[in-house]
Amino acid sequence: MNLYDRLITASDRPGFLLPDGAQITYGELDAGAGRLAALLISRGVVPGDRVAVQTDKTPEAVMLYLATLKAGAVFLPLNTAYTASEVDYFLADAEPALFVQDAVALAAEAADHAPLETTVPRADDDLAAIIYTSGTTGRSKGAMLTHGALYANATALTDAWGFTGDDVLLHALPIFHVHGLFVALHCAFLAGAPMVWLAKYEDAPVLAGLARSTVMMGVPTFYTRLLANPGFTKAAAAHMRLFISGSAPLLESTFAEFEQRTGQAILERYGMSEAVIITTNPLVGERIAGSVGYPLPGVALRIAGPDPTGVIEIKGPSVFCGYWRMPEKTAEDFTADGWFKTGDVGRQDADGRVWISGRAKDLIICGGYNVYPKEIELILDELPGVTESAVIGLPHPDFGEAVAAVVIGSGDEAAMIATLREQLAAFKAPKRIFFVEDLPRNAMGKVQKNLLRATYAGTFS
Ligand code: ATP
Ligand code: MG
Repeated sequence: MNLYDRLITASDRPGFLLPDGAQITYGELDAGAGRLAALLISRGVVPGDRVAVQTDKTPEAVMLYLATLKAGAVFLPLNTAYTASEVDYFLADAEPALFVQDAVALAAEAADHAPLETTVPRADDDLAAIIYTSGTTGRSKGAMLTHGALYANATALTDAWGFTGDDVLLHALPIFHVHGLFVALHCAFLAGAPMVWLAKYEDAPVLAGLARSTVMMGVPTFYTRLLANPGFTKAAAAHMRLFISGSAPLLESTFAEFEQRTGQAILERYGMSEAVIITTNPLVGERIAGSVGYPLPGVALRIAGPDPTGVIEIKGPSVFCGYWRMPEKTAEDFTADGWFKTGDVGRQDADGRVWISGRAKDLIICGGYNVYPKEIELILDELPGVTESAVIGLPHPDFGEAVAAVVIGSGDEAAMIATLREQLAAFKAPKRIFFVEDLPRNAMGKVQKNLLRATYAGTFS
């Protein structure tokens, strides 16, 4: 069944609560998407065609996403930060039938179309979207997601997080990525819940929005920014039943400070473009800082290799069906027996709880020994003067790679290294620590370790 018909129920219930006080109902959302679907078809878009979109975050952009589903086409959102030459790569790779840069203008053009009456039929294994990965570890790959995969994940999440029509979702995430696009929107849609709709994260509107919302989904930087604001108090969070974090690791200090300030425990979950959400901390039950919780129902998870810590492999109904036009890369990333190799390294407790220690590509091999950056980052983050740290491997003439740390904060490098040496084996202790004001991050708040490695590449040579 076409995902559109599963997600959207036309009604008078509000879907979008806009900053100017206006509302858009689910009925209006359905009609707007229907008109845009008719327009897409009149422009020659046929089932399976890609519709590429790089546009501001507006309700019309959401209508365009839904219209693309309804018309049976494949939605392909692009990060608004991408430059023209970056966009050229994606357009050449995806060959869309249409590239939209202004969803509002397109919606205005669609106003005189009658809404498409019947949703174009699609099967569960038909493609719904291509989501390009964030490019944190290399060139972005287009993860192909089907109608069935997205629906399976959406139902698992609404269930796991207890969404109902009484919820109000604070939506301040970008919608060119699985987090804001699928995780957030689909939960609201399936529950028929309204969203406090913000074009981006800004302290004042988010603080105001919390007073009339029940759930917020955010990246870790949302939470550090909230905590840095004295206006964010226990009372300011009192209307909320759930704060969810993902897309990048949540610092344990953020989790602890948040709990101290508000009395609420942030629920951390783990996901990726290739599978949407994979694990989550429980709604009812203990949410533990530093753990991403349990595999969602229906997801099978295992650790590759003989050691307790290794690459996380998964199977499940929401796993993607391959990288767009990259058959070799797709084959490489699946095992012979059909498990997807996530590229994230972690371990799983006896009771099933998952702990992520970083990405396989960030693993440091120093003199033949494996060093997991997370282990060192956790210790560094506890030192006075350190707000956050990123541990990387740099080319070293003797060891192959040597450990270095880039730290937000200040301190005495030699003294800090000496302190770390007391707690860590010599090969694990950083040989250099660089102090910075901020770490390079992409739009989802992910620290770009590849940029750090490039910046400090010559340190030991
Ligand atoms: P690329 O695959 O192009 O290098 P990317 O992996 O950053 O980029 P995304 O699909 O946007 O692209 O991000 C998924 C990754 O984000 C996961 O593989 C994982 O490394 C990280 N991630 C997501 N949630 C969490 C979390 N809660 N804790 C730790 N890491 C997380
Ligand atoms: Mg990835």
